[in-house]
Amino acid sequence: MTHLRTRAVHAGQHPDPATGAITTPISQTTAFALGTLEQGAALFAGQADGYRYSRFANPTVAALEAKLADLEGAAAAVAFASGTAACSSLLLGLLQPGDELVFLGPLYGGTEGLLRGMGERWGIRVVDATTGGLAAALTPATRMVWVETLTNPTLRLHDLAEVARLARAHGAISVADNTFCTPMLARPLEQGIDLVLHSMTKYLGGHGDATGGIVAGSAELIAPVRKTGLGHVGGNLAPAEAYLFLRGIKTLPLRMAAHCEGALAVAQFLQSHPAVRTVHYPGLPSHPQHDLARRQLQGGFGGMVTFELARDERAEAARVLDRLQLFTQAVSLGDVDSLACHPASTTHSFVPQQAREAAGVGEGMIRLSVGIEHPDDLVADLGQALG
Ligand SMILES: *Cc1c(COP(=O)(O)O)cnc(C)c1O
Repeated sequence: MTHLRTRAVHAGQHPDPATGAITTPISQTTAFALGTLEQGAALFAGQADGYRYSRFANPTVAALEAKLADLEGAAAAVAFASGTAACSSLLLGLLQPGDELVFLGPLYGGTEGLLRGMGERWGIRVVDATTGGLAAALTPATRMVWVETLTNPTLRLHDLAEVARLARAHGAISVADNTFCTPMLARPLEQGIDLVLHSMTKYLGGHGDATGGIVAGSAELIAPVRKTGLGHVGGNLAPAEAYLFLRGIKTLPLRMAAHCEGALAVAQFLQSHPAVRTVHYPGLPSHPQHDLARRQLQGGFGGMVTFELARDERAEAARVLDRLQLFTQAVSLGDVDSLACHPASTTHSFVPQQAREAAGVGEGMIRLSVGIEHPDDLVADLGQALG
């Protein structure tokens, strides 16, 4: 199995030994029969393999972990009830008071809130290296470096190999949130990054019907994340949700190709429209990091497109958004359905206005999550909304 498209279907999947069922069954059970007292003791002592209790491990969830580990080229993975549970388990499992965490922003708002809120309350120093650069921010106390493979909402990239190299030289663990790219476009572990995480809620699920998160990397790093996140925090993914992600990932390569095709068509159309001032899309030659995007992303430039209206006003954004027919106004992303949002009043409404403007998020900005509908229909819808 060399091609990702084949692995997305088959990895982690084995016909059920009890029945031969090809589709991984939903193991809807909390506990598993231990057998005899001595067999139970061996399981709990870690001397025998097997399932005990679904918060620790569950066969449906394990199949999903194996599939995602395979796609990211990781030795191990651990799934959680949300991307946020994955982030907090990663922090709590690997850092301790006195450690320093350096991030390159802008980060997903919830992640930055988590790092600053929970991290700092637990004695972890959180340093924003976005402006000053990573090299200048690293110190001997730096234990973790955190980046996203495509940033929200302006879709910038970080050179992952360089981030990994700098982090490693300082003995820090590098983490990449690969939610916006998925392993179809970027595989951070191959660039030397230590841990990759996803909000599976977005592209991996792909149908807007399940919340989940996952972290993948070496067995040594995943073990403490699993122990803390499942054993102590209890953020385990439910087996029924794991089934939806297993099913979603089978079509991820096909969906991602359609997202990329539609997004490029939409970005090119918007760029040529007189009511639009700027389009942020890594696949456009006008993107400031187009060369890095071509080097680092494989098979496409993603399904997210952000644009700024020539009239940088909330009323103008409302005029366009409220007229869209195929794009639904919503904050999630990565669904087969196209979604649109106004970052200044939704995803970035909790960011103070000055910081929001510094991050380039104006009142006339609109973020699109381009679905898998026919690109011509999406372009026509945007055309009629822009007027
Ligand atoms: C949505 C998202 C998260 C949080 O995931 P949830 O599943 O909503 O908890 C983290 N990072 C990125 C980049 C996201 O888009």
